Amino acid sequence: MQNNLIAGSWVQGPDAVDNINPSDLDDVIDSYARADAGQVNDAVAAAKAAFPAWSTGSIQARAGMLAAVAAEIMARKEELGELLAREEGKTKPEGIGEVMRAGQIFDFFAGEVVRQSGEKIASVRPGIDVEITREPLGVVGLITPWNFPIAIPAWKIAPALAYGNCVVIKPAEIAPGSAHALAEIIQRAGVPEGVFNLVMGKGSVVGEALVNHPDVAAISFTGSVETGKRIAANCAARLAKVQLEMGGKNPLVVLDDADLGTAVDCALNGAFFSTGQRCTASSRLVVQKGIHNAFVDALVEKMQALKVDNALLEGTQMGPVVDQSQLDQDLKYLDIGRDEGAKLAWGGERLNRATQGFYLQPALFTETDNAMRINQEEIFGPIASVIAVDDYDQALHVANDTAFGLSSGICTASLKHASHFKRHAQAGMVMVNLPTAGVDYHVPFGGRKGSSYGSREQGRYAAEFYTTVKTGYTLPL
Ligand code: NDP
Repeated sequence: MQNNLIAGSWVQGPDAVDNINPSDLDDVIDSYARADAGQVNDAVAAAKAAFPAWSTGSIQARAGMLAAVAAEIMARKEELGELLAREEGKTKPEGIGEVMRAGQIFDFFAGEVVRQSGEKIASVRPGIDVEITREPLGVVGLITPWNFPIAIPAWKIAPALAYGNCVVIKPAEIAPGSAHALAEIIQRAGVPEGVFNLVMGKGSVVGEALVNHPDVAAISFTGSVETGKRIAANCAARLAKVQLEMGGKNPLVVLDDADLGTAVDCALNGAFFSTGQRCTASSRLVVQKGIHNAFVDALVEKMQALKVDNALLEGTQMGPVVDQSQLDQDLKYLDIGRDEGAKLAWGGERLNRATQGFYLQPALFTETDNAMRINQEEIFGPIASVIAVDDYDQALHVANDTAFGLSSGICTASLKHASHFKRHAQAGMVMVNLPTAGVDYHVPFGGRKGSSYGSREQGRYAAEFYTTVKTGYTLPL
């Protein structure tokens, strides 16, 4: 049994839930506590009590603790990567990669602790000094999804602590193991009692209690649009700061002059790696007519060769879907696509493997129209559509014709089109000759339109969310 971390102690919940391996439904990883609203209150109270000392204490000590977290994550990357692959279903190499990213994020923010600075500005009134500084917010609530169960907690926890806030985090209930392991590491690094708290359990109970708690100054959320909108409305009602990272319907444009091998590799990686369960996944492949047939043929050939199996087996290239409800959603969208008149060029079959799990062949629709639901709604599975276009202008129009705006990619040899696309793609991140997924850990992450709300995450831009600005005026006497 794995417990919640509240005020420096590991506390049982009133209830618990099994964490099941999606590659092998007979494999129960462990049982994880489910908190209730009372435990959320205890965690917030502990964080509030710890805030005065933590926010004004030694920044050298704070930097040292974050560096110690980074070092332990890195030293245990194999074991933590295996746990991640076992609970979420991405392949073990992908799991190890995600764990390393979490370590790098803690390392980056360990450095940021001692690089905090302000500005001194000339006053318009002679003799007065003006200073602009940043201060932490207080208690921050972090709500994270299952698809990056260690990297997303890391990219919210590390800046929150680095800038002097205290944290209460609620990870997704279906994959809490990696966040729990991270909590153990944070506690071992010597973070004082109450500064960091973990409350596991249901979003409708634990998440709601955290979002609506009057002592939580800010909420950072990653997940679905529906939940994000609800959280934003609740935060607005009590004037709490809020940051949302939500879905995507990311286009990868392939122009006639693209290098075919590069374009196919970008599509394969962007659409199907991590089982397509990435907010930056390339779910719409917007392909110019001259290269269309060669691109589809080459992509289908690579999809057929993709090894779909247990995430922990060596050689597996795509693991299972995360759970039954996500699988049902994927199968539902395969039916919707067929009903809308799209052609299923390949894939979409349920697969049986040596262990019972949620295995699904990657699927590619062709002859699709951008107005179809499969091209407008986030599916969040290994399913992509090809949309044929006549020219660059039409490709750009289709790429932007979506309610989302997270990541947008183009494969082309034309500097003119690449430059124009970088400027005019309505997305927070733009990729040229690269997959729409796969980003650096030290630069801003986030999108526009229905994909994001509030300030950017990661890199130095994280300070926008985790601090508040103070302008000080002094008349020296
Ligand atoms: P949710 O938005 O429901 O879950 C994200 C997090 O929010 C989880 O920790 C969840 O808790 C929590 N949560 C749920 N309801 C509330 C609430 N009322 N108040 C506060 N917190 C809440 O996404 P799902 O995991 O259910 O996935 C559904 C769909 O969302 C996916 O199919 C996909 O389309 C999209 N999604 C997008 C992601 C992205 O990165 N863009 C990531 C994950 C999902 P819990 O689940 O434990 O109950």
